[in-house]
Amino acid sequence: MRTLWIDGGWQPSEGGGVRQVENPATLEILDEVAEATPADVRRASAVAARAQRDWRQLPALERAQMLHEAAGLMRGDRARLSELLTREGGKPRIENLDEVEWCAACFQYYAEIARSAYGLSIPPTAAHQLNFTIKEPLGVVGAIVPFNYPLLLLVWKIAPALAAGNTVVVKPSELTPLSTLRLVETALAHLPRGVVNVVTGAGAVGEAIVDDPDVACVAFTGSTAVGTRIATRAAAQLKRVNLELGGIDPLIVFEDADLDVAVPGAAWARFLNNGQVCTSAKRIYVVEPIAGEFIERFVAHTRSLRVGDPMDPDTDLGPLISSAARARVEAQVERAVAQGARLLEGGRRLDAGPGYFYAPTVLTGVRPDHAIVCEEVFGPIASILPVKDADEAIALAAQSDYGLGANIYTRNLTYALRAVQEIKAGTVWINDPLTDNDAAPFGGMRKSGMGRELGVEGLDAFRETKHVHLDFVPERKGFWFPNRQRRGDIPS
Ligand code: NAD
Repeated sequence: MRTLWIDGGWQPSEGGGVRQVENPATLEILDEVAEATPADVRRASAVAARAQRDWRQLPALERAQMLHEAAGLMRGDRARLSELLTREGGKPRIENLDEVEWCAACFQYYAEIARSAYGLSIPPTAAHQLNFTIKEPLGVVGAIVPFNYPLLLLVWKIAPALAAGNTVVVKPSELTPLSTLRLVETALAHLPRGVVNVVTGAGAVGEAIVDDPDVACVAFTGSTAVGTRIATRAAAQLKRVNLELGGIDPLIVFEDADLDVAVPGAAWARFLNNGQVCTSAKRIYVVEPIAGEFIERFVAHTRSLRVGDPMDPDTDLGPLISSAARARVEAQVERAVAQGARLLEGGRRLDAGPGYFYAPTVLTGVRPDHAIVCEEVFGPIASILPVKDADEAIALAAQSDYGLGANIYTRNLTYALRAVQEIKAGTVWINDPLTDNDAAPFGGMRKSGMGRELGVEGLDAFRETKHVHLDFVPERKGFWFPNRQRRGDIPS
């Protein structure tokens, strides 16, 4: 049984409620976790607010040293953290080893840049004045995280928030809380008490964070539906939000693409983490001259993927996260087929273990208005849409209410730059899908969210700008009350 992490130690929930955490591959119950109450959230936020007063005053170098130490501790616990990530989330172990390494690297990146992220010196309007800006932390940041990259998406929030001098109250997904609890215990316990706090539980705990008077900003990654609810709630309090939401990202394969690269690249872009990635390529457009060959090779490649035990190094795809997630994907495929899509591969549950396995699936004959490409499908379903030419590919790829990422395979500069110009997306990947860079901003447009994580923008998401105006010869002020002294200045 795991309790809450508040004020640098384990504390029980006031309500006494618990929730079980299930291994989606084996259906074994891994542990029980306390369900926080609104009073627990209040307690955690008040502790975080108190701790923030000292944390923000620390020299940036001292904070940076502690964040570097955290990175080292994460790497030291990589074997166990990656194992826990796999057991609770079903992602193959090899990918979770990457996830832990990316977390450590992100901590290092923010430890470095927070020391050299400067304010501005601004030309004053009078010779005896100074104008400059300073960057200040917001206070307490509430971080609400989804199940699919439980540690990485947490670290994208807390590394910059802490580096900027904020303290945090974290809520992991109720499906994957164990890796977060282990991370705070093994890699963040050296931080001053109360700087990082974790409250576990479902949506009601997230709502309590959004409503908490000590929480100055909510950094959320998750579905567009929940993000919309959070934005509405936060707006009523004029509270800052950073929202990283769903995506229905396009991937275009132009006729000059090297299919030896584009086929496995597109399969990777769609099936990574069993299609449970916000930036998965959920609509694949292939131009007619190569569509037949692409589809044939994509189907063969899909058949070669190994679905099974995510702890096995030979496994490419593990289970889906939950019974509900699999049922949702199943219903989306059935509906697509009923609307006329052709099932070329998969489309069924797999008996790869007791858990929520589903075969990687390839659909074609999908129309641009079909639900399978207009709603987010969070599972291993590749929808391939042959298109006449580059113009049609770019036009259809650009047609979406969402705008998270977009992928392109081409060596043709005109195609690439036209796609960059016309597709509204936070990131466009050309010939290398789904590759992030800690120093480059990540985020979405339209229904994919607002704000950016990573890079300097990811640090600024957790900082206010304060303008300071200083007059060092105040007696030289040319006017003051009473106004009548300046009566002569008024034009007649
Ligand atoms: P989700 O929206 O169901 O849950 C995300 C988190 O929000 C969980 O911790 C959940 O408990 C919490 N939550 C639920 N209801 C809440 C409420 N009313 N108030 C506050 N918090 C609440 O998402 P999920 O199923 O865990 O993750 C999948 C979704 O996340 C997909 O839509 C995916 O595209 C998106 N996602 C986006 C990004 C990105 O960077 N844009 C990255 C990963 C995942």
